[in-house]
Parts: sequence; structure tokens; C-alpha cells
Amino acid sequence: MTTGSSTPTVDLLRLRDWTREQRATMTEDLRDYVGLESPSDDKPALRATLQWLEGWLADRLGPPLRVRRFDGGEYGDTIVHDYPGASGEAADPVVMLCHYDTVWPIGTLTDRPFRVDGDRITGPGVFDMKAGLVQAVWALRALDAAGADRPPLRLVLNGDEEIGSLASRPVIESETAGTRCALVFEASADGAVKTARKGVGLFRVEAHGVEAHAGLDPASGVSAVDELARAVLTLHALSDPGAGTTVNVGTISGGTRSNVTAGHASADIDVRVATRAEIDRIDAELAALAPHDSRATLTVSGDWNRPVMERGAGTAGLYALARDLAAPLGLELRECAVGGASDGNFAAQLGVPVLDGLGAVGDGAHARHEYASVNGMLERTCLAAALLNALAPPREPRLSP
Ligand SMILES: [Zn+2]
Repeated sequence: MTTGSSTPTVDLLRLRDWTREQRATMTEDLRDYVGLESPSDDKPALRATLQWLEGWLADRLGPPLRVRRFDGGEYGDTIVHDYPGASGEAADPVVMLCHYDTVWPIGTLTDRPFRVDGDRITGPGVFDMKAGLVQAVWALRALDAAGADRPPLRLVLNGDEEIGSLASRPVIESETAGTRCALVFEASADGAVKTARKGVGLFRVEAHGVEAHAGLDPASGVSAVDELARAVLTLHALSDPGAGTTVNVGTISGGTRSNVTAGHASADIDVRVATRAEIDRIDAELAALAPHDSRATLTVSGDWNRPVMERGAGTAGLYALARDLAAPLGLELRECAVGGASDGNFAAQLGVPVLDGLGAVGDGAHARHEYASVNGMLERTCLAAALLNALAPPREPRLSP
């Protein structure tokens, strides 16, 4: 990875002071953004949120160099804004990935309104990941206010991340391919950035047997429930904690009555893996799943929803850079690997270095105790600004004629 100069040209402590002065305005921005509820399955709400965001982005960052909008169909649209670097567009852009949908249905705001209590901000989606976008935007403002260098930037905003990024995935992939690196402003893990994420597979196993009277004619029946039960044990045995692989049969259903040999049964399975090798192993095992009774059939459907985000050398380099920039700010930046996936997984699959979890400090993603820290928001804004500054391409010395 070319990380540009990899040394900040901006005064980090002055950057921090400036960021701290924006406390009230940044909190108000977050309040306004959280005030627009944006559940992944509510297209009109997503449209309204995106419309507000476009106005807010124009207000905060000025007009982008280029705007692309991708129709999400039944899902939220994706917008891509390109912003020039301080010294033009000569270098490949740094991508910033943010999603504007949340898991919270309309009306959550009535029960849990936006509130600031000391250092704690609560409200639906503050932690995952509305504070993250506010931080990303204010990191750019901080650099502009300091007159500091920044690389060309590409902001990708999608509205279907919480349901698997089905519509936005091709956009994320095409807009991220060949770029310098991707910074993901998803929430941190207890302050740690995320340098590895598991891949997630969602599968269904269906067993088909032969129905028969369980008492009168048991020999001609083939039980799909029996087949599925055996398959569940086989599937759970594929878990390998040492390799970071979990296989969870989360739901099962099947059969019609207790006196009928079950003709059909099915199970839904969540698989998480930490390496591409484990994806191959699980694929092979699922393909080899065979019925106990040859008269029965087992079929597997589903696929890998998100590929593995492995900690490659580029990602390790980005983390080291961020950690070194955090130290003079009095911040010990840790890294971690997590089981949850994000759009960072798509970027990593393309071979683009990814640093994820640059967003909110707090806790409670998808949970009622969700909160974000005000000081964390200011601190991470400053860190993101320092990182972007360090990623700015070195200014070319002017050649004398
Ligand atoms: Zn998220």
C-alpha cells in the first residue's frame, strides 16, 4: 500500500483543540441526523434521510466534485460523493464507507429520544453508525479549517447495510476497487478499531422424506425430522473455535403431526469464518451433506453474505499509522478482530486495505442501551483528520524550468 507521506503535516494538538471547540455544533448535527429515523426497510424514510443528508453535506463540505446516485429499488439508494484532495485529484482516492440506515423502526425516537447526558448520547442509531458519519464529515472540516493537506476522498453512503447491503454491494465494490484504502466509520469495539472481521454465510438445509402412517405403516415412511436431526449434529460438528469458525443452526421446523412420519423439515444456519480457507472447507462440507436413508434427500441453499475481512499487510499498515497518530493525542488505539461483518468485508475482498471501526466510541449496537460518547466523538474526529492528513499524497516539488 502507498500511504502517501505517512507523516502528518498538520499540528495534531491544534487539530485536537479545534475539534474540541466544535462540541456543540457536532452534537447538534448528530441530533438533527438522529431526528430522521431511517430503518432499512422503510424506503420513504430512507429517501427523506438521504435528502436531508445531501443538504447537510453540501452545507458542511461544499459541493462535491462529482455525485453519483444509485437506485436501490426497494432498498435505500446509495450516493457517492467525490471530493478533491488539497493538491487536486492526482492520487487514487481514499474511500470512506458509511451507512445511513439503522435497525430501529419508526417510532423508536418517541420512546428513546435523542438525549445528551454528560458524556453520553442516546437515541436510535447514534452508535451504529450515525455518529460515525458526523465524525467523518467533521474530520474533513477540521483539515480545511487548518488549511491542511488531505487526499482525494470518496464518500460512499448506503442505506441497506443492516440487511446485508444487497443493493449497495455492487456499488461499494465498483467504487472501492483500485482505490488507495477504505476507512469504515462503523462504531469501534470498546474503543478498538477493527482490523479483521469474520465472513458470514446464511444457509438453509431442507430434508425431504416420505410421509406414512407412523403406526400402521412405519416401514414405508422416511422421516425428514430424523434426517434433519442427524444433519444438525453434523453441521454443529463443523464448528472449529480454534480456526474461528462457528456454525449455528438457529431455527428448525418440520413435520405435520405426531402420528405422521415427517415428509419435510428445514433448518436455518448462520456460519461465521475467519479465513478464506474455512469458507472453502465449509462449502465442501455442505456440498457433501448426505442423507442417512438413501430414500431421503438433503438440499442446501443460501450463500456467503459477506466475505472474510482478513488482516492483510495493508490493513496492518493502516492500523500502525493510526496508532502512531493517536499516541501524541494521548490515546492508546487498540485493534481487534470481531465476529460481525460490515461493508468493510466487501472492500477487503477486493484487496483494498481497510481500517474499520473508526466511528463512535460507546456501546450497544442494535441494543436498547445503545449510546455514544461525546468526548469519543471529538477524539475520533481528530484522529480521523490526522489519519487523512497522513494519507495525503506528498506535494510534488516544483521542477524549475
Ligand atoms: Zn453499522
